[in-house]
Formats: sequence, structure tokens, C-alpha cells
Amino acid sequence: MSSTLEPNTVTPPRIRQTGILIGDEFRPSVSGKTFATVNPATEEVICQVAEGDAADVDLAVHAARAAFETGPWSRMDARDRGRLLNRLADLAESHIDELAALETLDNGKPISDARAADLPLAIDCLRYYAGWADKVHGQTIPVRGDYFCYTRREPIGVCGQIIPWNFPLLMVAWKWGPALATGNTIVMKPAEQTPLSCLRLAELALEAGFPPGVINVVPGYGPTAGAALVRHPQVDKIAFTGEGTTAKIIMKEASETLKRLTFELGGKSPNIVFADADLDAAIAGAEFGLFFNQGQCCCAGSRLFVEESVHDEFVERIAKRASQRVLGNPFDPETQQGPQVDQAQFDKIMRYIDRGQAQGAQCQAGGRRRGNRGYFVEPTVFSNVTDQMDIAREEIFGPVMSILKFRDIDEVTRRANNTAFGLAAAVWTRDVKKAHQMSHALRAGTVWVNCYDVFDAGAPFGGFKMSGIGRECGEAGLANYTELKTVTMAMK
Ligand code: NDP
Repeated sequence: MSSTLEPNTVTPPRIRQTGILIGDEFRPSVSGKTFATVNPATEEVICQVAEGDAADVDLAVHAARAAFETGPWSRMDARDRGRLLNRLADLAESHIDELAALETLDNGKPISDARAADLPLAIDCLRYYAGWADKVHGQTIPVRGDYFCYTRREPIGVCGQIIPWNFPLLMVAWKWGPALATGNTIVMKPAEQTPLSCLRLAELALEAGFPPGVINVVPGYGPTAGAALVRHPQVDKIAFTGEGTTAKIIMKEASETLKRLTFELGGKSPNIVFADADLDAAIAGAEFGLFFNQGQCCCAGSRLFVEESVHDEFVERIAKRASQRVLGNPFDPETQQGPQVDQAQFDKIMRYIDRGQAQGAQCQAGGRRRGNRGYFVEPTVFSNVTDQMDIAREEIFGPVMSILKFRDIDEVTRRANNTAFGLAAAVWTRDVKKAHQMSHALRAGTVWVNCYDVFDAGAPFGGFKMSGIGRECGEAGLANYTELKTVTMAMK
């Protein structure tokens, strides 16, 4: 793996912002500390980024509070908030190549994915919520007596938003879109691994005309900057995406100030292939549903249940496809799989591969590191996986597919639901009754039928059980960012 880019690759962009955004100014941290952000394809430091902690969070929260209570934002018409969001979407679109390349540089995802998935979905999400800004209505209520009763949906206030590294800009759009459409102000903490695209989008937000303090960004570490945001008494709400164990810490910490909380957490999503499915489509969907984004998806189809009669053919064909995937320099437009995001994720995945082998699963493809530079893991396929194995129960967050055999619909429904998670599920069948039965029976926030990882800004996304609280995207996403107020007025 070479660190110099070959001639046919996309060139990484110049880094413009590495500071903390407070109000309308990017500044160094109060402590003067910085942290390195690393290119996962080469293990080289890209640049140093200001490391925010409690002191910076405090300044950011005060800026957000002032913007919420007294700034032009607090008096702005809903329609004008929508116009600002649309302007930000337009600016993101006109900088799409730069933003996609930043994403690839910092996260390692293939440029073709950043360009075709992350950026278009993020821009679409901003536009979708721009459209909602002036359509968040209350109701009039026919109460008893001579009273006029109505409801208003008001912004919650200062929202702390803590996001992970797997889809950095898309997570920004999912969090900013509904929060800004409904009139809140924001203090965001991006993931330590991937702060660069968020900082650049924040710079574009200032260019779009968002008033100072409406959007603040504090890069830094979870236990310092993130925890300070969660504890801050002037923060009204925390929206978090990441691991369940982190969500539990946040829930405990936020209980002191009884903050509103919404969580989008991990999963161990069942992807169920019945023998009557279009097998070509199911195999392609299983590959995409697991290996997309280096397997670093909260909704990855990481428990692949295949019906007995097609199992052996399925395993042989998917293993062949996995071993043919193009792994390498993420700036090469032909690359399908880049490196994992960092050393810690790489090590975690390799441990799971070892455990899969030790516990008796059969490795049909991959199973090793690729090269000796960068966090590259071969696309890996395990068959003969049983429900009790660690690779069938725990979130690996990497390119490791676990294939489990099943006999009938009742058995697979029971096994698919036998998990603490409930983020997503998929069913592959040509039988429409079976498709409906399964869609109702599966305990998951999203069920895909004969497709996988189909996302849309209008379609709610979030988890049952330990996969989350609340829904992002769609009209449902607005509820995460509004308080409902009832006004009752005497008529006589
Ligand atoms: P985390 O849950 O630790 O990180 C998500 C975000 O929370 C980051 O911004 C992180 O900061 C921050 N954070 C960490 N600790 C705290 C805290 N005490 N208070 C407030 N904020 C905090 O996930 P990781 O990035 O460490 O990934 C670990 C595993 O989580 C993965 O292997 C995967 O299984 C799962 N994951 C799930 C995702 C999903 O979409 N559901 C996304 C990413 C990971 P920092 O930058 O310091 O990490």
C-alpha cells in the first residue's frame, strides 16, 4: 500500500479549518491543546485540531444560549430559517468534491461512496428539513367550556449533539437539519477521528448566513468535551449517535439536569434470505448490506440467515464475491473498500475474527489484514455460525459476515428477534405474504424487503430495544427537537 497517490486518484483537499467554532469565530482551545487526526489509509497525521474541553464547551454553550434567547435567530421567521438551510445545502452541493474528499481523507471511506452516498444524502437531508421549517404546526383543541385551546411546537433550546465517525457529514446533516428547522441552537461535538468535514460545513454555514452562535462546533474527546456538554446545565437536550455503553453513561450523567435525550445506537441486524428469493439480488444485497462502508454501519446486516436448501450455494457465491472486492487506496475511484477508521477499530475486528475461528466458525473468505500500512481488513465471510458465538451476538463494526443456517419461518423469526438490539432487519423472498408476515414480526425500527440500506431523508430511522430512543429523519425527526406547549385562553 503506497502513501503517494497514483495519477488516476482524486487529490485530497487543502484543510481550511482546524479550530473550535464559537459564535462566528474559529479559535484555538482555551487550554491551547490540540490532537492529531490521522489518515487511516496511511497512518500518517493529516493535521492537528484544536482539542476542546469543559472550558471551550462552556463558551460554546453560552454563545448558543445567547443566540437562542436574544440573537436574530430567536426572532427569525420560520421560512427564513428554511431559506438558510437551503442556502447551506446549495453551498454543500457546490463544494461536494471538496467535502467528499475530506470525508475520504479523514475516515478512509472510498471516494466513490463519499461522492455517491454520504454527500448526496447529507445535502438531501438539509433540503428536506429546510422544507419543514414553516410547516411545523400546532393544533386547536375543542376543550370543554368557553376556552380557546391550541398547541404550539417550540424549539427545545440549546441542543448538544454528539456524533460518531462512520458517516461524519451525514450524521451532521441528520442532527443539524431538524434542530435548525425548528429553531434550536447547536453545540456539536464531532468524533475525534473525523472532525474535518464537520468543521468545513460549519464554515459554509457561516457563509450561508446563519447568525453567530446558532451553530457551534467543539472538536475533542468524548470523556472531556462530550461529557462536559452532557453535564452542562444550560444544555437542554442531548442527541447522541454511537455505542450503547456510551449512551448509558450519557443517560446517567444527563439525569442530574433531566435533559431530553435521543439516541441512535448499534445493532446486530438480521438479514434473512428465504429459498424462494431472487438469489442474485439477495447475494448482491447481502454483500452491500454488510461490506458497505467497511462494515462500519450501525444497521449492517451482520447476522445473515440463509434457508437450508440454498445455503451451500449462497455461501460459495458470497465468499467468491467477497474475495473479489477491490480493497485499497480510498482515493482511487475503483476502490470498493478502504481501511477501517483507526487502530482501535482494526484491533477490535481482528480480535473478533480470531474468536470466530476459535469458536468453530468456518472462514470462507478473508480473515487477515491486507498490507502492512493502513488499517485494511480483508472482506471476511464466516459460515457455520451459531447463535451463541460472539460474532453472532456482538456488534463487530467491520467487514465480517456471519452466515447462519435456518429451516423455517417460525424458527428464523424467533432467532432473528433473540437479541437486545432492534435497529434494522431485511427479508428476501418472492412470497408477498411471507414478506408482510416477517415485516410485522421483526422487532426492528426499519425492515427492508428485497433491498438493504435504502435511506431517505423522509423515512424515519432509529431503534427498538437497546438500539435507540427516538427516530431521526422524516417528520418523526422533528419531535426530537420540539417542546409541545398548550395555550388555553378564556373567551369570556
Ligand atoms: P462511542 O460511542 O464511544 O463514540 C461516539 C461519540 O461519543 C464520539 O463523538 C465520542 O467521542 C463520544 N463519547 C465517547 N464517550 C463519551 C462520553 N463519556 N460522554 C459524551 N460523549 C462521549 O463509539 P466509538 O467511536 O468509540 O466506537 C466504538 C463502537 O461503537 C464501534 O466499534 C461500534 O460498535 C459502535 N459505534 C456505533 C455507531 C452507530 O452508528 N450506532 C457509530 C460508531 C460506533 P470520541 O471522539 O472521543 O470517541
